[in-house]
Amino acid sequence: MADIHASALASLPSVDRLLRRPDADALVAAYGRAAVTNAIRGVLDELRAAPARLPPDVAAAVLGRVSQRLEDEARPSLRPVFNLTGTVLHTNLGRAPLPDEAIDAVRDAAREATNLEYDLARGRRGERDDHVERQLCALTGAQAATVVNNNAAAVLLVLNTLASRREVPVSRGELIEIGGSFRLPDIMRRAGCRLREVGTTNRTHLDDFAQAIGPKTGLVLKAHASNYAIEGFTAAVAERDLAQLCDARGVPFVVDLGSGALIDLRRFGLPQEPTPAQAIAQGAALVTFSGDKLLGGPQAGLIVGRADLIERIRRNPMKRALRVDKLTLAALAAVLRLYEDPERLVARLPVLRRLARPVAEIRALAERLRPQLAAWVKPGVEVGVVDCESEVGSGAAPRRHLPSAGLALRPGSTRLAAALRALPIPVIGRLQDGALILDLRCLEESDAVRFAGQLRRA
Ligand SMILES: *Cc1c(COP(=O)(O)O)cnc(C)c1O
Repeated sequence: MADIHASALASLPSVDRLLRRPDADALVAAYGRAAVTNAIRGVLDELRAAPARLPPDVAAAVLGRVSQRLEDEARPSLRPVFNLTGTVLHTNLGRAPLPDEAIDAVRDAAREATNLEYDLARGRRGERDDHVERQLCALTGAQAATVVNNNAAAVLLVLNTLASRREVPVSRGELIEIGGSFRLPDIMRRAGCRLREVGTTNRTHLDDFAQAIGPKTGLVLKAHASNYAIEGFTAAVAERDLAQLCDARGVPFVVDLGSGALIDLRRFGLPQEPTPAQAIAQGAALVTFSGDKLLGGPQAGLIVGRADLIERIRRNPMKRALRVDKLTLAALAAVLRLYEDPERLVARLPVLRRLARPVAEIRALAERLRPQLAAWVKPGVEVGVVDCESEVGSGAAPRRHLPSAGLALRPGSTRLAAALRALPIPVIGRLQDGALILDLRCLEESDAVRFAGQLRRA
């Protein structure tokens, strides 16, 4: 062992010698001399620490490792993956994919100066929200609208603006935690509000609110129970009644919708999610919802409602800290524009197109891809076409599943899952009942070509 060690170390070429080799030139051209030198040092250090048996042409072998190392390091950390989890709006996988119209708008806004906060007609300072406010008002029936980083920020900002150091009555049935770290009671505390719990977990009545509202009340909040449901002996106060009560007492009634679908989802066989337009029509003073859930746009938090309240929100210094950049606004405006043509909306907006995809089409794709996946897997793994169920994700319609189809790899294992994740475009499936399921709902035709291509090359 000691002999192998000594001879391996003795045969390692120097950094200079490696850099002078002709096969290093291509690496220097691609990555720059500094990066190649660093990578050579790194590989040599590794080999000194853990000597390996190298082929006779040691220098070529070392440069081979250097090349691999440079390639690994050059790969961006954030990159595209195939979301075959069956969850259409997967928070960990970046939620809504953007339509081409939004991608083009982002590219244009990124490349040049823009009139982000500049009124071109008057030649003076303008308002960031101007680029989407008219569209948001048209879609929701609200008087005014503003945009921040995400819906959690929207809720935080509304609470802080209207109810700092004041009380916020919330039904005990709505004290929710959503995904990773959005807990309503925590957000309230951070916004400087005092939470006043109303009713019980399963039943809350209008009279409970009537008693809770007083001189210290900043606003009344209703949170959409996104990702869970309370069943059985339940009662919740109708939005219209609560809005009227708040109106009579002179406190703003705020609805946090979360997903905030802008259109009727029943056409996809899904239960209707409450829309911002409905909440406004029922008397909400403000409504908050996400840009990248069912709306199908970029990550953003949208606040729509009464003009006087939106104006107060805009003047809160916290708005400055939570605002969105020009890329988000460009994407959001392009997505909202698609909503102006409802007939073509489902075909053009990826989230809705994927939710609406007929199961027969998904199954046909699975049949077509099955042999290619079967050729890629190791012997002993079987690949079959299966029926499965997709879900919307991100808290929308939590109990309803969409019939879907996919490919099942049996036996499924964490090793097999890791091999799929190691492909150039990582493939993310889900392990279920001893199989690795790839739900193909989110693999559209154009992606299917790339999916099959990388299996062939692997
Ligand atoms: C998803 C959700 C949020 C958080 O929205 P983000 O866009 O993830 O910040 C807040 N409230 C409700 C009801 C939600 O469903």
